[in-house]
Amino acid sequence: MTVEKDEFFMREALVQARLAEQAGEVPVGAVVVKDGAIIGRGFNAPISRHDPSAHAEMMALRDAAQCVGNYRLVGCELFVTLEPCLMCVGAMFHARIARVVFGARDPKTGAAGSVVDLFGGLNPSRPPLDRGGEMPAPSLVKGRDGEGLGGVARLNHHATVTGGVLAEECGRVLSDFFAMRRAQQRNAAGAQAAPSHSTRLQSAPDAGYPEGSSK
Ligand SMILES: [Zn+2]
Repeated sequence: MTVEKDEFFMREALVQARLAEQAGEVPVGAVVVKDGAIIGRGFNAPISRHDPSAHAEMMALRDAAQCVGNYRLVGCELFVTLEPCLMCVGAMFHARIARVVFGARDPKTGAAGSVVDLFGGLNPSRPPLDRGGEMPAPSLVKGRDGEGLGGVARLNHHATVTGGVLAEECGRVLSDFFAMRRAQQRNAAGAQAAPSHSTRLQSAPDAGYPEGSSK
């Protein structure tokens, strides 16, 4: 049931990713789900919005928060086609998202294990940290099992995370997009070289999701 449910909502996130593609943005999409219903949708839009924070997850979080009239999204799940970055995981923690599900991995900015793991180091059995005292250096924070937890374990909220849901499909949307963009740039370079063609196709600036991130 969970697998089917995860794939169902990931397909909804993919619908959002295609909306991003149609807008000329790197195709990443997200939805926020509460009690089995979608309460927020968003797609990547930093170029059109002139907003470096306009990642799909941020847009979906904003949409969901408006929907429920609360910046806390307690008990909600967030589905996103690409592994979230540091900023987006931070926003999810602030929103108290309970569970994050992503599709393709992002080896360049992924914060769910690919570059850093903000979900990692979680030890549910660890004793509450003393908020009044001096915080120990991250390398000194130890779990009961003696394993180093790292600094992120001290964050006051953690969500569970599931990766790789429809990963191939989510990644293909991105790799197709970058292949198309490379072809456009090659055509543009060819047109520039020919004296009869002066039109120059503008290449999209970096949208925050680096090329090849779906590989
Ligand atoms: Zn992000």
